[in-house]
Amino acid sequence: MYHSVDHFDEDPHLVTVSPARFARQMAWLRAKELRGVGMREYLDAHTAGRARGLVGLTFDDGYADFATRALPVLLRYGFGATVFVVTGRIGTYNAWDDGPRKPLMTADQIRTVADAGIEVASHGRHHVSLPGTDDTELREELEESRAALEELVEGPVTGFAYPYGHATPREVAAVRAAGYDYACDISPDEPQRHALPRTYVGDRDGPLRLRAKVVRHELRHRSRV
Ligand SMILES: [Zn+2]
Repeated sequence: MYHSVDHFDEDPHLVTVSPARFARQMAWLRAKELRGVGMREYLDAHTAGRARGLVGLTFDDGYADFATRALPVLLRYGFGATVFVVTGRIGTYNAWDDGPRKPLMTADQIRTVADAGIEVASHGRHHVSLPGTDDTELREELEESRAALEELVEGPVTGFAYPYGHATPREVAAVRAAGYDYACDISPDEPQRHALPRTYVGDRDGPLRLRAKVVRHELRHRSRV
C-alpha cells in the first residue's frame, strides 16, 4: 500500500516514498522474481491458482506524482498497479488531509495512466470516513464515484479502497451491493474479498524491512482471499 511517490521535506503522516527509494523497492521485487500487478489482475490470478510470485501494488488517493514519478518506474519493470482515485477531487489537492498539500491527478492524467495499463479504481468521492455517513451519502460515495470513473476511463471500474481503511460490516455490505468486485482495506478484522488486508510500505523500507513485510503478509493472509 503506497500513497505518494515524491521528494519531500516533511511527511507527518508517512504517506510519501522518495522516487529513489521507490525505484529501489521495485528493483528489489524484480530481484526476488516478484512481479507487481494491479489488484484486479492479482485476484484473477489468485482465482486461477496462478498468484504465486505476484504482488498487488496499490496507490491510494490518486496523487499527481503517481503519473509523473511512479508510473515510469512501473513501466520500466513491466509492472502493473491499481490507483484509487478520489473522484470529487480530481485535478485539485488532498483537502481532506492536514499534512502538506499534494496535487491530485487531473482527468487527463487518469486517462493516461489507464491507457498505460494501470487499473483505475475508486476511493470514494470526497475521502470521507464511510462509517460516519448516512445511508444516502454512503450510496452516493460508492455509486457516483464508480460511475464517474467508468465514464472517465471508458471501461469497467471494479475495485474500491476504503478511505482511512475505515470499514464496518455496513460499509463492506454496501460496497458489495454497489457492484464492486473487491475492496481494499488496511487491517480488517475479518479479511474477505471486500475487505482485503494490505501492508503499508514507506520510505524507511529497505531490503530487510521489505522482506520482513512480505513474509509477515504471507503468513497472516495466505489463501484467505
Ligand atoms: Zn486515502
